[in-house]
Amino acid sequence: MIRKPGLIRKRLQRLSIRAIAGALFLICAGWCSVFAADATSPEVGNSSSSDVSGDIELRGRVVCIPEEMHRLHKAHLPTGHTHIYGFKTVDGAIYTLLRTKNSEAFFADERMRQKELIVKGRVFPETAILDATPLRTVRDGVIYDLYYYCDICAIKTVVPGECMCCQQSAVLMETLPGSLDNFQPR
Ligand SMILES: [Zn+2]
Ligand SMILES: [Zn+2]
Repeated sequence: MIRKPGLIRKRLQRLSIRAIAGALFLICAGWCSVFAADATSPEVGNSSSSDVSGDIELRGRVVCIPEEMHRLHKAHLPTGHTHIYGFKTVDGAIYTLLRTKNSEAFFADERMRQKELIVKGRVFPETAILDATPLRTVRDGVIYDLYYYCDICAIKTVVPGECMCCQQSAVLMETLPGSLDNFQPR
């Protein structure tokens, strides 16, 4: 049986229209169920927390949470309280800082707690706990890269203390972005 090419084309057109309509329906149904789930689900945090648990950048300062709670909300502190460090963003949100290898500088290096910082990290789902890494500092409106540097080995790191290679103590550096490329080790 021989079909006229025109007839086949028409059939194909009809088929593709049907396919597009079907796809549109599925997309609509998908969106509707997403909205329905959002509206009815008591665990709204689930959808938003997965958004913030990835890498985010926050600008602010390291604060002592007990002192901040005393200052803001008159929390009664014992004399000689234990410092619990958190990160307070420029918007006023406060996250508890988890002490990890990457966040060690906030705990071990007092200078980090005196700077305005830009950190990158993640907030764990269903918490306000931040796993942060120092990234940059802001001074007089200028943004600097912030890192520890061993000029013997030319190693740049976020971890304070001794150089992992030569054990000389690494120096805290603030440099304009990209300027390390031209940095001359002494
Ligand atoms: Zn304190
Ligand atoms: Zn070194």
